[in-house]
Amino acid sequence: MTFSDKPLCFYCSEYAKVAKDYSVNFASKDENSFTPRCFLHWKYKCDKCGGMIHFNGISWCSTCKKFTCVSCTEEKMVRKKFLVYDYYYSISCHKCGEYNPALDFAEYNGTHPFQIGDLKPAEDVMVWIPISKEEIEAQEFPHKAWGSERVLSLGKPTTFKRLDTLKDYNPISIWDTLAAHWLTAEEEDYHHKYKILPEVYRLLNAEKGDKILDVACGKGDLARGLVRRGAIVTGIDISKMLDYAIKTEKKEKLGINYLKLNAEKLTDKFERSSFDKVVCNMALMDIEDFKTTINQISYILKENGIFVFSITHPAFAFPACTSFRVPEDSQRNEDKLRILLDYFDERPAVFTFGIKSSRALQALTFQRPISSYLNELVKNNLILREMSEPKASEELVKKFPRNAYLDDDLWPDFLIVKTVKKSNI
Ligand SMILES: [Zn+2]
Ligand SMILES: [Zn+2]
Ligand SMILES: [Zn+2]
Repeated sequence: MTFSDKPLCFYCSEYAKVAKDYSVNFASKDENSFTPRCFLHWKYKCDKCGGMIHFNGISWCSTCKKFTCVSCTEEKMVRKKFLVYDYYYSISCHKCGEYNPALDFAEYNGTHPFQIGDLKPAEDVMVWIPISKEEIEAQEFPHKAWGSERVLSLGKPTTFKRLDTLKDYNPISIWDTLAAHWLTAEEEDYHHKYKILPEVYRLLNAEKGDKILDVACGKGDLARGLVRRGAIVTGIDISKMLDYAIKTEKKEKLGINYLKLNAEKLTDKFERSSFDKVVCNMALMDIEDFKTTINQISYILKENGIFVFSITHPAFAFPACTSFRVPEDSQRNEDKLRILLDYFDERPAVFTFGIKSSRALQALTFQRPISSYLNELVKNNLILREMSEPKASEELVKKFPRNAYLDDDLWPDFLIVKTVKKSNI
């Protein structure tokens, strides 16, 4: 390896993005990994256990001239915004018990053993001497590289953010903009065709004469499928997708009754107990007030009626989880990483997709844990009958290896739930 091929230290590079006077070292450790490191940001030997520990998990006691690692004594978490982080570990010295910060914070603080001259680095590295304490305290660090954002920056083309409020977003207009996209999207979507719809049909088990409400019916594909199975179907939706459904109905009359209606306002149009079955296919995770929606569905459903819904999987799908390939252009699923970001965050997430094409689109989704959904069903007398997490079959893996191998055969992208309404139990 020539000098010019040498990679830069990952930590130095990240720190230099926020501390403008930071000098970036070449890496001499883990050079072929995603996080090549310089000697300063390598490992240090704990004087208690003898282990070589990552610099962010070991502290230096200047009094005892000893290192102590997180595994040898108790560490405290100290919340403090510095460099790209928002906390550090304070680790008590195994000799004197004094608490000292781990070396990541010590470096920022100017108390790293290399900075104060307690130790001399065994390899030639530039050691940053932070500006005065007062000045650094006054600095605002953006913490850009911290947490999931840093992981995502490794290569994911989709960007998203969590919203504390929806005031700048209008879900209906977002859906209307997306409608144009979905209408021209591939009709035969792999997930819908092979994993979601077969299970929705199986669980709903539409029979001749069943009165079925399709909540958020979109362009009416499922509604038409149900009519062909003999059901009497009403479809509601608030987006422009419904216009397409209505147009299709005019062209090929199947007797489907379409209404432009908000899923949270079913009782505006329907009486109590007016349907044998209700289905909500791939929409509940995009509906802002899912509690009211489930409550209204229960109200318009007959006793012993069936409610089936399918959603993106709350644990393994976006935005709780994300995936990307490293390298990005790899076509093999071995190179695909799936990362769980935040399962519990119920704030809406707005995301952009198709960034690389000229028609980047914004979408809105509402992540909720599985327990939030199930507890809402329980509150509304909707008793769980069956849950389905479609897994790619061997056949599907053979037919669609890029979709299914080392992916859909390892974790579910979707969750499909069948409940029955029982008021008296
Ligand atoms: Zn470094
Ligand atoms: Zn130790
Ligand atoms: Zn000590």
